[in-house]
Amino acid sequence: MFKFKSHNPTALNIALLLKDPRIEFAFQKLELLSDEIMKEHIRICEIPAPTFSEAERAKYFYNSFSNLGLLDSKIDSAGNVSAYWPRVSNEYICLSAHLDTVFPINTDCRVKKQGDRYFAPGISDNAAGLVGLLAIAKILVEVNLIPKIPFLFVATVGEEGIGDLKGAKYLFKESEYKDCIKYFISFDGPGIERITYRALGSKRYRITFKGSGGHSWGDFGIVNPIHAIGRAISKMANYKVPQQPATSYNVGIIEGGSSINTIAEEAQMQVDLRSISALELSKLENHLLSSVKEALREENLASKYSDSLLETQVEVIGERPSGEISSSSQLLQTAITATSAFGVNPYLDCSSTDANIPISLGLEAITLGAGGTCSGCHTLSEWYEETDRIKSLKRTLLLLLALSGLN
Ligand SMILES: [Zn+2]
Repeated sequence: MFKFKSHNPTALNIALLLKDPRIEFAFQKLELLSDEIMKEHIRICEIPAPTFSEAERAKYFYNSFSNLGLLDSKIDSAGNVSAYWPRVSNEYICLSAHLDTVFPINTDCRVKKQGDRYFAPGISDNAAGLVGLLAIAKILVEVNLIPKIPFLFVATVGEEGIGDLKGAKYLFKESEYKDCIKYFISFDGPGIERITYRALGSKRYRITFKGSGGHSWGDFGIVNPIHAIGRAISKMANYKVPQQPATSYNVGIIEGGSSINTIAEEAQMQVDLRSISALELSKLENHLLSSVKEALREENLASKYSDSLLETQVEVIGERPSGEISSSSQLLQTAITATSAFGVNPYLDCSSTDANIPISLGLEAITLGAGGTCSGCHTLSEWYEETDRIKSLKRTLLLLLALSGLN
């Protein structure tokens, strides 16, 4: 277990907290709650919450926050649900988790258990984070732990996909709490080792090719928007990203056409570009835009009819800022120490999460896993296992209390 290091004030603080009987009691209670947490996890997962349609799940959180005894539970105009404990303040430590999933509204979200595994779309990302938020709140209230700096609990909307961190942007730029958050910790998915302290920047595009459309036989030879998209994707797929700094691209959605024997009037693709480096991101962006231009030129050149040419429309549909917090920041150092206190080696990570927004604003923010293991995130075969869930929740509770101090 934890080794006492007298020269390190953060470690000293954590060592003292670990000996506090109220915290020992809270840890025991968390262990006893394990089955109840799993049941709650399943309930949350089975409420559909696609990005921009989180209202039903938000209502559930609004009621849960109130029923648990948190104060001033409310849904803000972006759709985020918030409540605090134990009192109103002009300074909070915020624990959050995003409500939305990447799956369409009619996806079957019912949880199926096989052995120790729970299968369902969204079971890990982010039902695991959301139930962690409720579990921490429940323990604080039931054990009546009174932090010196109050905690603000927020379930955010629009973290995934074209949500473009809508909820986090509102929280930090417009909400009543925008200037009151001292530290921000986001629960996103399972795990215990990962501490995301660098914000992965991304840019997202919707690109549309438009033509006159026609009959597949009678009008053969006119410009074809779907063929043009194919040309553009092929050029994108040939782009060689550097090994370092890590960079990625994905054509995630292609849409268009009305029947097999119709030349489409329109086709569209949505493309996600990411890089740790702003320079690599802009190189990748230039490659996408030149691929689209080139595909347009080739498709128009191939047409038999010069009077009916393709057009493109290029829209930016997402932009997530990059950044990182200092390695010596109080939040990061405390998170590392709290994680190590449970015999776990922290893994410092870079990712795109709600924490991108506070990090880009110069605030101290990280993203953590809420415990458990998973595979297949963002796919229909996503699963979750409870391994180390309770340990991870204890770690987060310890971290929060080490940051706030305990009355
Ligand atoms: Zn997530």
